[in-house]
Amino acid sequence: MNKNSKMGEFSLIENYFKQKTIARSDVVMGIGDDGALLKAPKEQLLVFSMDSLVEGVHFLPKINAYDIGFKSLAVNLSDLAAMGAEPAWLTLALTMPSIDINWINGFTEGLFFLANQFNMQLIGGDTTRGSLTITIQAHGFVPPQQALCRQGAKAGDKIYVSGTLGDAGLGLKAALGTFVLPEEAHQYVLQRLHRPIPQIKLGMLLRGLASSAIDISDGLLADLGHILEASCVGAEIWTEQIPLSRVLKEHCTQNETMKLALTAGDDYELCFTVPPQEESKLVARLKEEQISCCCIGEIKESLGMHLLGYSGSLSEYGFQHFV
Ligand code: ADP
Ligand code: MG
Repeated sequence: MNKNSKMGEFSLIENYFKQKTIARSDVVMGIGDDGALLKAPKEQLLVFSMDSLVEGVHFLPKINAYDIGFKSLAVNLSDLAAMGAEPAWLTLALTMPSIDINWINGFTEGLFFLANQFNMQLIGGDTTRGSLTITIQAHGFVPPQQALCRQGAKAGDKIYVSGTLGDAGLGLKAALGTFVLPEEAHQYVLQRLHRPIPQIKLGMLLRGLASSAIDISDGLLADLGHILEASCVGAEIWTEQIPLSRVLKEHCTQNETMKLALTAGDDYELCFTVPPQEESKLVARLKEEQISCCCIGEIKESLGMHLLGYSGSLSEYGFQHFV
């Protein structure tokens, strides 16, 4: 920030960031010095993940501050989930046109709601003036050999996804006013768009079970495509098995539904592969933890993606090589 807002900046950091975050025992020095001092666990790997949200690019200008705070951390937590990591710390680079206390209040409320839920401490950051941009780096731990990576899927592994797909994509249409839904359904898809629940518990449950994993931020086909590329394998997708919400099934045509579920981003569910010998253990653990996941296909040796049970065209989305 420039000199005129310096006082504002310091009290902002003290009152809204330092005061509101939790205190973890592995943080020797958090906000307030030139750098944070942290005690990383000896037997675990550190997982770092960073994502930026830019107004007008990643969220619409009219979105409220609470949702922006919530989602900026949620998308980072989703990356930790996809690595099988347990969340620990976060840093925040905040660029804003001016210090608007109402906005800061809402933003920090959304951010800390999620941070506290996952026992994360804000340990530092940077505050600058400019177009609204939020960059968060999330830090977590995972035992060596148990990190979930994009590579590792093998022919014969089953492909799973969590939750339901396509809801956030419909949420974006609803937010833009290009798809009109009854009030309850409208609120449901907006919630799915603005407040994605990161699948941390699932990611940690998949340690030692999944052969690969990714979070679905850009759409199932694109993100599963990353697993296939990194693992040098192909896949068969059983489109009728893709989990869909009641709202999608009730309010969209079959073609719209499939397009949303296969290509729309922002759901932040996990897509992962499991070797056949681990499947019964997986199913039992999911049941125990009451986490909903569906098997939607199988990894194949031959490259490419084959969509079974879907005859529509996805060419307008640039996925013609998949059909
Ligand atoms: P420096 O000039 O040494 O970079 P700053 O004034 O940028 O110091 O930051 C002072 C302290 O406040 C540092 O500990 C920094 O990590 C923390 N900090 C600054 N901005 C934020 C923010 N947006 N969120 C959390 N901590 C912040
Ligand atoms: Mg600084």
